[in-house]
Amino acid sequence: MTQDNSKSHIIYRGDILIVDDTPENLKFLSKTLAEQQYKVRSVTDGVMALRVAQAAPINLILLDVRMPGMDGYEVCSRLKQHENTKHIPIIFISALDDMIDKVKAFNVGGVDYITKPFHVEEVLARIETHITLEAAKTEILKLNSELENRVRQRTHQLEKEISARQQAQEQLLHLALHDALTELPNRVLFMKQLGRILEQSKQNSEHHFAVLLLDCDHFKVVNDSLGHVVGDRLLIAVARRIQTCLPPGVMLARLGGDEFAILIEEDTPHGDRALELASRIQTELGYPFQLGSQENFTNVSVGIVLSHQNYEQPEHLLRDADSAMYQAKARGKASQQIFDPRMYTQAIVRLQMETDLRRAIEREEFILYYQPIICLKTGKVAGLEALIRWEHPNQGLLLPGEFLPIAQDSDLMSQIDTWVLRQACLQLKHWQENKNLQDSIFMSTNLSVHNFLQGDITEKISNILIETGVSGHCLELEITEESIIRNPGRVNSILNELKNRNIKFSIDDFGTGYSSLSYLHQFSVDSLKIDRSFIESIVPNGSSTHNTQIAQTIVQLAENLHLSVIAEGIETREQLSVLEELDCTYGQGYYFSRPLPAEAALKFLMYCQQSG
Ligand code: C2E
Ligand code: CA
Ligand code: CA
Repeated sequence: MTQDNSKSHIIYRGDILIVDDTPENLKFLSKTLAEQQYKVRSVTDGVMALRVAQAAPINLILLDVRMPGMDGYEVCSRLKQHENTKHIPIIFISALDDMIDKVKAFNVGGVDYITKPFHVEEVLARIETHITLEAAKTEILKLNSELENRVRQRTHQLEKEISARQQAQEQLLHLALHDALTELPNRVLFMKQLGRILEQSKQNSEHHFAVLLLDCDHFKVVNDSLGHVVGDRLLIAVARRIQTCLPPGVMLARLGGDEFAILIEEDTPHGDRALELASRIQTELGYPFQLGSQENFTNVSVGIVLSHQNYEQPEHLLRDADSAMYQAKARGKASQQIFDPRMYTQAIVRLQMETDLRRAIEREEFILYYQPIICLKTGKVAGLEALIRWEHPNQGLLLPGEFLPIAQDSDLMSQIDTWVLRQACLQLKHWQENKNLQDSIFMSTNLSVHNFLQGDITEKISNILIETGVSGHCLELEITEESIIRNPGRVNSILNELKNRNIKFSIDDFGTGYSSLSYLHQFSVDSLKIDRSFIESIVPNGSSTHNTQIAQTIVQLAENLHLSVIAEGIETREQLSVLEELDCTYGQGYYFSRPLPAEAALKFLMYCQQSG
């Protein structure tokens, strides 16, 4: 044992306390030990010994057995009882004549004994041994506690690592079962849950449930025209709004793209809760979405499938919900439909139709019919509206209502619109050059929302004009209120760009869409086409019906905004009279002519030119 005493710069081998009532002994031992570089303290009775041992650092005590007052055994056992002193090795000293009770000495905690007279070497050897032993013991204790500490730390670290690993695993599991964009359960989790509930309903025929498949209407338009970032934000907003409609415990999942699914337990096999929920969601989604400074619209078409004993696999339920959803879509925006097995056939027909449609574009099975637009003031043909037909190889001539909805859903629409525009321009140019058609007669074509908001639309149209040699003032493009409302800013810039080419614009089916009359003055459109539904029930001779009033309002509104009005779907002389009275500029409808194939349309034009 070494110790640095800074005062004397002596390196001590240890602190030793000598307790003996015989002064000669004390003197002899002190001297001998001091010579050996021990630091020595000496006391002559037990009480003092206890006091010093408490106060100073002591490495070893030489303790006389026999002393007046407290004897050595007593001192030893007291030292051993005390926390601070119990570790100090104690060597008993005894005279040869008083026999030491060795057993007692060891029992009270002594480590050794020496008898007088002292053999210096022996005394030193024993002291040295016990000091070293004690030092080794202390060292071991220290190492031990360090080791324990380290084990404790490692355990702690391991626990942390394990919990981090568990967390990571849970996170991975969460990721695998949830959609990253909306954080809703994904298809995998939905199918699992659906499988579970299907099992339960198999075991208990009273257990009914329904699956709702929700698909956003015209979502592709949003993505194509406003970009994916806006599309994503809209999807998140839609998800949140649907969630607010859900009763507690009902699962909403995002299956992918713009498709969501809901699993709901039912009290009856009739799907009452599902239908009610679908309506509530559609009502909620009817309000515009405010994304930043922009207002957006989207709603969902909902297909519903009800649980049935015949279902064996969750996939089949989803497949049927999908068929029902398509039926709903075909009926128009924001509809709902419960699956009926007859839909299988319809779904197959639909699929076939889609395949046929793709081929139709390649094989050019489309043709255009032309319906004259008449100036009501002069009775002359002012223009023609090009309307598409499909000469289907097996089904004969199909009207747009029979195939355009499918084209819209399968992104064939913009190809079709482009084809129509080119074809109509080619036809017009041909008539102008070869049949002396006056160039005051314009050609009108329909542009669907899909096409209209696409990035390259102005370039596409300009190219077609250049390619066909038709001048812009001979072209009128019909767009719907929906295209405008979808993205007013973009529409405005497209309109202005195309205005530079003198192309005219009209708003088709006016009055049926969002009918936000207030926005009209912001857009450079040239005319409004009053929807057929308002013309249909016009009654002459002043008995002003609601519809006559609407027609009148639209005509007046157009007048104020310096727009011309085209009344669509005029079928009778009476309807025409009312419109003439209202001072409507143009008319179109079966009363004048049905849409005609090119040949017949030309004949009609020539006849009017001659007779006019
Ligand atoms: P629309 O643009 O409102 O076209 C007028 C529709 O009303 C035409 O139906 C026309 O045949 C019909 N119609 C015209 N006069 C009368 C009438 O007096 N009485 C009745 N009952 N109907 C009349 P069609 O050709 O079946 O077209 C339906 C819709 O399909 C069009 O409605 C238009 O939205 C769309 N469409 C037609 N061709 C094209 C096209 O080339 N591109 C695009 N994007 N859409 C087209
Ligand atoms: Ca039209
Ligand atoms: Ca129309």
